[in-house]
Amino acid sequence: METLEKKTTKNIDQITNHFSENEEDIKIIKQVEKIYPVKYTSFLTKLFLESEAIRKQFLPSPLELKTNGTPTPFEEGKKASKTYGLERLYRDRVLITPHFDCPAYCRFCYKKSRVMRNKTAMSFEEINAAVGEVGKMSKVRGVLITGGEPLLDQDKLFYLLDKLIELENIKEIRIGTRTLLTMPEIYTENLCFKLSSYNQINSSDPEKSTYLAINVHFNHPDELVPEVIEACNKLTSRGITLRNQTVLLKGINDDVETISRLFQLLIRNNIIPYYMNHCMPVEGSDHLRTSVQKGLDIYKFLCTESSTAIPHYVYAPSGGKVHVGPDTKFEYVTDEHIRYIKVKTLYKADEFRKIAKKELPPRHEVTEDGYIQGLYIDGNDNNN
Ligand code: SF4
Repeated sequence: METLEKKTTKNIDQITNHFSENEEDIKIIKQVEKIYPVKYTSFLTKLFLESEAIRKQFLPSPLELKTNGTPTPFEEGKKASKTYGLERLYRDRVLITPHFDCPAYCRFCYKKSRVMRNKTAMSFEEINAAVGEVGKMSKVRGVLITGGEPLLDQDKLFYLLDKLIELENIKEIRIGTRTLLTMPEIYTENLCFKLSSYNQINSSDPEKSTYLAINVHFNHPDELVPEVIEACNKLTSRGITLRNQTVLLKGINDDVETISRLFQLLIRNNIIPYYMNHCMPVEGSDHLRTSVQKGLDIYKFLCTESSTAIPHYVYAPSGGKVHVGPDTKFEYVTDEHIRYIKVKTLYKADEFRKIAKKELPPRHEVTEDGYIQGLYIDGNDNNN
């Protein structure tokens, strides 16, 4: 099957020339593109005309060349299992990546080392092998089907879903996607109906219920245009829960007014604000990263608002997610002019080694009581 991306992706020349008249910038942007490729969809092109906040998320910036970030800031994405496309970092859930590419590249994508590098999609044989392994992991009850964009190859996605739904231990299936923003037109009645068929509530024996939810990704109120909301509504009206994962982005949504408007709009349109993620220290994204403290200042304000619109605020050192609460105090360490946050995670080192089948990531160590302690590259709040 031809993947959907070929029909939708545009060429950078069509758009950089449109939004930048500075020849020097255009020259640098061409260099950036060679390091961090650029892709966006026809639908996004329309949104670019109206919204700087959306342009900044998908169009390259000369600032991408100045970076302290790393290619793989989170452990996810490395070879963590003997089966290609299957990864396990946590006790109760695994990640499966049937399709590694995306139809549009977010400039801050923490998986850019694989999403932008044409990594091959999983084959049907690899999907069979992954499902076979997951079936033997008795403590695993959830699968996150992630990407890249799993919706780009729907034959593989539904093949995988059909296999997963048969596993006794798997009760929670989530699909992570940004296609509701990048390609809302793919959400036909037929697709939404098929997805909802995996949501199987068993009222006579709730232990046997299995559900499918979708993790969506909206960062700014400008993204919630009628076509997008219509596609979301086709899913929620069929009983599929949509949970939003926002990335905090400097100059895009790092102010109380924008972010609280985003969360209120999401709630109003039946989408749960689920996570507000601090932008990861991936290479090429420094100019979009605030300090973690800035996110905390915003989060404290959110905590004074209606609790329905408060997501979890997290940042993610390579060893695992860390939740930030209103009373969190950060410990800072500076090394070679880079400021790190030193943090003890909730994860035991022994368990990490056992389930992820690898050693701790760089700049991580074990505390006296056996937990993983790591260093996380902080962002800054300077004007770029
Ligand atoms: S949609 Fe997600 S995986 Fe794809 S480029 Fe954006 S952040 Fe990365």
